[in-house]
Amino acid sequence: MSNMFTWETDADGILTLTMDDPNAPVNTMNTTFQEALTETTKKVQDAVAAGEVKAIILTSAKKTFFAGGDIKSMIKATPADAAELTRTIDGMKANLRTLETLGVPFVAAMNGTALGGGLEVALAAHHRIAADTKGAKFGLPEVTLGLLPGGGGITRTVRMLGLQDALMKVLTTGRQFSAEAAQEAGLIDEVVPADQLLDAARAWIASEPEASQPWDRKGYRMPGGTPSTPALAQFLPSFPANVTKQIKGAPMPAPKAILKAAVEGAQLKRVEDATAVETRYFVDLVTGPTAKNMMQAFFFDLQFINGGGSRPKQEDGSDFERTQFKKLGMVGAGMMGAGIAYVAAKAGMEVVLKDIKMEAAEKGKSYSEGLEAKALKRGKTTEEKSKALLDRIKPSVDYSDLADCDIVIEAVFENTELKHKVWAEIEAAVPETCVLGSNTSTLPITGLAEGVKRAGDFIGIHFFSPVDKMPLVELISGEKTDKATLAKALDFTAQIRKTPIVVNDSRGFYTSRVIGFFLNEAMRMLVEGIDPAVIEAAGRQAGYPAPPLQLQDELNLKLARKIGAETKAAQEAAGESVDDGGVTGLVDKMLDEYDRPGKLEGKGFYEYDENGRRTGLWRGLWDQLGAGTVAVPDAETTTSGSGLATAGSGGRPQQGKQEGPKLIDLIERMLFAEALETQKCLDEGVLTSDADANIGSIMGIGFPAWTGGTRQYIKNYARPAEAELPEGKVADTDGGDYPTTGVAGFVVRAEELAAKYGERFTPVDSLRN
Ligand code: NAD
Repeated sequence: MSNMFTWETDADGILTLTMDDPNAPVNTMNTTFQEALTETTKKVQDAVAAGEVKAIILTSAKKTFFAGGDIKSMIKATPADAAELTRTIDGMKANLRTLETLGVPFVAAMNGTALGGGLEVALAAHHRIAADTKGAKFGLPEVTLGLLPGGGGITRTVRMLGLQDALMKVLTTGRQFSAEAAQEAGLIDEVVPADQLLDAARAWIASEPEASQPWDRKGYRMPGGTPSTPALAQFLPSFPANVTKQIKGAPMPAPKAILKAAVEGAQLKRVEDATAVETRYFVDLVTGPTAKNMMQAFFFDLQFINGGGSRPKQEDGSDFERTQFKKLGMVGAGMMGAGIAYVAAKAGMEVVLKDIKMEAAEKGKSYSEGLEAKALKRGKTTEEKSKALLDRIKPSVDYSDLADCDIVIEAVFENTELKHKVWAEIEAAVPETCVLGSNTSTLPITGLAEGVKRAGDFIGIHFFSPVDKMPLVELISGEKTDKATLAKALDFTAQIRKTPIVVNDSRGFYTSRVIGFFLNEAMRMLVEGIDPAVIEAAGRQAGYPAPPLQLQDELNLKLARKIGAETKAAQEAAGESVDDGGVTGLVDKMLDEYDRPGKLEGKGFYEYDENGRRTGLWRGLWDQLGAGTVAVPDAETTTSGSGLATAGSGGRPQQGKQEGPKLIDLIERMLFAEALETQKCLDEGVLTSDADANIGSIMGIGFPAWTGGTRQYIKNYARPAEAELPEGKVADTDGGDYPTTGVAGFVVRAEELAAKYGERFTPVDSLRN
């Protein structure tokens, strides 16, 4: 195997090691790197001992410095690999430690991005210089993949920055810093123009011939103190609470493992001992299910999607040409239109923002003005850029202003008749080549296309609110939508830097259809008599960013009633049985008897103060609607400190209630309801890839990130310990024959839920095969 480190020494004995993996576009911590590092470290050691090398500069021949861990191999790691993995990682860290302690200056000259393992390599150097290159990122984002920095990253950031800053600013957030921000955070020492990188490294070496790490010098003190220092010890108990707050009770092992590795490592004097602790926690995470799920979704699925995995091909198999959009016609300047106009203008497009009255169009533009004023205040943009962005948005009441648009998006009220009328007017105004997109959230595209002459050019472009923050766009092909139109719509979403999923037409498409199952399941529980505070706690512990009743308030019950009625009518028309679990009755009562539609009106399942802040669950849920008659035996204990208290009601004592299900059943009912509906979407061809299901569910509708998305949840299902097995069954993982993992484990658990809670949990046939 070739050594991926190029070796170059100059007359002053400065050795420049340039990393260049011959088999990959970026450097990663793969076998090539590990073997080359071992060989090179040995060689450097000998050369230093012989007095031939007096300083080391580590740099890279790639566009980036070092991309990080080798995710392709990490995702395959199983508990059986733990011992081998531990050996490999500790071996690599021993090499870095050797270079760190050779007694000659060691500088990382980072020509570009250094993330995760990449930054960890650089952290072993005595000095880090970054080239000022556009878009370069620095940080330890492992936590976002369900992992921890196991290449010395925890040990060294804690020793550099102190426990508190390392944990809160770098490790548990996984933030990716620009060079400037990384310097400010203390992760790197200098930022210089790219062509001065190596000169700057040599200059530093000249000024620090005796360089070493602070922690290897006599009298070193950890910034802020070690856990046994009284000043820090008094804050220590708040760390786990902060982490719990950050993950809101979700079953995410990584943040907790990071915390433990950091605190335990900080108590150990020797770097070698601290990094060994780090390795142990890392190996636990990387061989477990959650990291796999998160690597699948946030690395592989995102790569598939952003790499154009769903972009259609022409009949002859060739790619459609890329389209660069210059001018967007935005029809409807309400909440959604205003947001879409902003993201398009920000991406450099001209935007005509059209509404019925000039006042409404201008109000739509004022949304952009507000966002830009904030960005200016925070130093995220300049006066000049901001003005140019705002100048690109032209409020209008005149369809003739759309004459030279290359794409139009309609976001008028959700009403088929109105949309048909508006589309007739749009089509009369725009050029023949213009892409026609509707931002409808529920109306089937095929039906809307009946009011459009160029139906082949018509497509659903479904944004999420608030548009400037939500990363996802759902593209919906109707029956008549041309492939070329889908390709163009994908180019448009790429241009405005959103992540697109591609779905086929269906009521509610993918995201709106599936989120309804989550909300309905929670409302069924309420009807069954479960305490609403317990339902919310179950939602949080399942890992949803917003618990179901809170989310339902945000989405509004009036809309839920409208969609529910349409769905019911469609089901009846198709001859399907309708079992709503009493949810329709609940919604009717909430709206007609108690007038509590949701957050907008300041009253829903929750109470709100005059500023729209939740003050607690509405007492009427217990007093008028009879919720809370069924006890969830383990809810009181498992939710203490996070769930019940923050749900706002304090819950009710459990005595004298009917014995109900365990909390895990509530949690899994929510997750299974969405996962099973996703499987149906795949079976029906509404979805055509697992990646679309996973990314769409996490980024569009808040399906818990630790699962890796709705489809990954099924594929890599791991039965939680709290879900007791039926009498007499022994789990396959304990040598029995009762499936508890993967699709088979999912199917068996779904059948249990179906037997207990209703047929809707019966797994579809495609899962059995
Ligand atoms: P909104 O009520 O805030 O805005 C609708 C705007 O359309 C109003 O400003 C109205 O004056 C304007 N309008 C009506 N008729 C018009 C016409 N003939 N020409 C030009 N403008 C006209 O509604 P919204 O929340 O922005 O939703 C718009 C669309 O986006 C709907 O189809 C909705 O289903 C969809 N959508 C909404 C959300 C959401 O979270 N609100 C999310 C995704 C999709």
